[in-house]
Amino acid sequence: MQITLSKHAGFCEGVQRAYSMVEKLTQDPIVKKPICVLGDLVHNGEVVARLEKIGVRKLDPKESLEEFITKNKEQIGTLVITAHGAGPKIYELSKKYQIDLVDTTCPRVIKVQRLAKNFFEKNVQIVIIGEKNHKEVVGIFQWGGESAIFVETEKDLKDLNLDPNKEIAVLSQTTQDQEFVKRAAAQISKKYPKAQILDSICLATHERQSEISQLTKNNEVVIIIGDPASSNSKRLFEIAKRSNKNSYFIQKAQQLEQKWFSGKKTVAITAGASTPAWIIEEVVLKLKNL
Ligand code: SF4
Repeated sequence: MQITLSKHAGFCEGVQRAYSMVEKLTQDPIVKKPICVLGDLVHNGEVVARLEKIGVRKLDPKESLEEFITKNKEQIGTLVITAHGAGPKIYELSKKYQIDLVDTTCPRVIKVQRLAKNFFEKNVQIVIIGEKNHKEVVGIFQWGGESAIFVETEKDLKDLNLDPNKEIAVLSQTTQDQEFVKRAAAQISKKYPKAQILDSICLATHERQSEISQLTKNNEVVIIIGDPASSNSKRLFEIAKRSNKNSYFIQKAQQLEQKWFSGKKTVAITAGASTPAWIIEEVVLKLKNL
């Protein structure tokens, strides 16, 4: 069986950068411990577990951020913002409560946050094409003064009703489905010709999604490795499934099933931006041994 591994499988630049930064913090004696991450550093259970082993704690605030920080500030050595970014509040709170903050927000996400802030200050109506509960989108929404309108589904797109007298700017989640963003942008432009459309899908997403479309055509079986919590991994699976019904989503090598490959000669493997190299290597090895 011929195995083709995607050129873009695994950690994207932004996630790799955040992971390496946190790893270095754990080894730096000057950095205050414990290192606490606001949410999952990466949407991958195995990566989070590995970080926990080296002393990195995950914080999961259920109450408001301020209540949480007030209650727990003594237990936080250094606070880390993940590559997905966060709203402006955490920067204010860390100053107010004198908490050491390390910001690993991906530069590509910062760019979208800044756009959202600028548009809000100019009273422009922001539209975000993305999942409203996704961490990155929540941060962008907060930088945009919590005034943005979301387009997450076809129905949202159909029901979109904006004030035509107001300037409109359309942003997208960096890991959105590029086909959906293209379609949504075209429809919004048609309805509101003056709307500014800013393609904020990041290059890593573009490359990954374009490549998977090709791989699904050239291979009989497609394996997508990712955590169910990772929306970009699930999106890759949705794209693959559209053109190849023999596409499978797995978290780890043990989930591979021999019957998927019976009589098949070609298989492609890809992985979401939050899947670490060691999981991809295990999958490749297991496939070679099947
Ligand atoms: S997917 Fe793109 S924007 Fe998101 S962390 Fe990775 S490189 Fe940055």
